[in-house]
Amino acid sequence: MMLQVKKYIPIIGLEIHVELKTKSKMFCACDAHHFRVEPNTHTCPVCLGLPGALPVPNAKAVEWCQLIGIALNCSLAKHSKFDRKNYFYPDLSKGYQISQYDQPLCFKGEIILTNGTKIGITRVHMEEDTGKNVHKTIDGKKVTLVDFNRSGVPLVEIVTEPDFRKVEDVDEFLKSLQKIIRFLGVSDADMEKGSMRLEVNMSLSNDPQKLPNYKVEVKNINSFRFVQKAITYELKRQTEILDDGKTPVQETRGYQEDVDKTISQRSKEDAQDYRYFPEPDIPPMEFDEIYLQNIKNQLPELPQTKLNKFQKEYGFDQQVAQFLTETPEISEYFETAVKLGTKSKIDPKTIANLLKNKRIDWQKINPQQLVSNLSQSQNQKGLSDAEIVKIIQKVFADNTDVVTKYKSGKTAVIGVLIGQVMRETRGMANAKTVNSLIIELLK
Ligand code: ZN
Ligand code: MN
Repeated sequence: MMLQVKKYIPIIGLEIHVELKTKSKMFCACDAHHFRVEPNTHTCPVCLGLPGALPVPNAKAVEWCQLIGIALNCSLAKHSKFDRKNYFYPDLSKGYQISQYDQPLCFKGEIILTNGTKIGITRVHMEEDTGKNVHKTIDGKKVTLVDFNRSGVPLVEIVTEPDFRKVEDVDEFLKSLQKIIRFLGVSDADMEKGSMRLEVNMSLSNDPQKLPNYKVEVKNINSFRFVQKAITYELKRQTEILDDGKTPVQETRGYQEDVDKTISQRSKEDAQDYRYFPEPDIPPMEFDEIYLQNIKNQLPELPQTKLNKFQKEYGFDQQVAQFLTETPEISEYFETAVKLGTKSKIDPKTIANLLKNKRIDWQKINPQQLVSNLSQSQNQKGLSDAEIVKIIQKVFADNTDVVTKYKSGKTAVIGVLIGQVMRETRGMANAKTVNSLIIELLK
């Protein structure tokens, strides 16, 4: 038998851009909202890069960037500044992006994955988004138009250490980062809409102690679905090159989801290529202890903390706790309902189960209503059988096809009916009673 040896170890680091959902842009008072907005309507001399226009930093965006840093266990800089990153592209009218070079707002953080792997956070800094090139055909001619609505929207860049060795870890990290950002309420962090964008730096090493002498950056991964595919493809490509005794070219590649491949875009640029220098129009920033403490105090409970708390306080299993901390909306709903329900001694487990088993549509019934329904049913010991029968008959009438299926022998469809009835009763009926009544009535 041949011994299978893994020849190369993947060395992966991430760069993530997150668009903040502040009201105004980073350096001007323009409305920062730009999704499905008439082109070039949210613009002014500053974000169009007209001569003489002066940038004024958005204090809220800086605070939110620092909040992200705290949530990622970073240290916060006492002194920080903005720098100009110079390059040319049509969507960058100034010819430079205002970013941060050697004094990022936040640095040296970490996130621990569930398998214990520590992912270092190199830095979290503040910058501005660019405009958007729009490719169109007008009067039969292919043209590129520029929309500056996105130009100057606050953008936070999060850079990790090259600590990932497995694709699965990248996936877990991104999902937990997205969750943290959503719980902070500072961004939608939506990959499909571009409010969370990912660049992956990848190389392969045959010596775990040493970083390889090249790295490839892969861009254009616009959905969670493609993270794993893009990385897997690229690592395979690099393996083949190394097997041939060559070294992969240091470059930037774009992932093309239609063909599931990465395509070379350009040679990878170095920091020096951008001729960074301090932004002369914005004074350096100084943050005192009182300011920084105030930001730390603003940190809400993060999803992981909530998850542990739910398990400990209410004895929920991993699955239920996970479900209740999936989005800030659902966990807030649950916690509000529990709070409102304490007086009438409603068991948090009842509320959790109703939510988890989709017995109620929590987007349609508010926590107050839910709790009052539950306490009513607690007092009355639920709906009477006659009331339940009425509801069942209505559900039957609305789902004649399901009833026919059941009668033809596909008894598994009964779940559909039970679910419908439970939803109609808004959790006020006993599930066992509903179950036996349905079976009875189907005979
Ligand atoms: Zn503007
Ligand atoms: Mn950037």
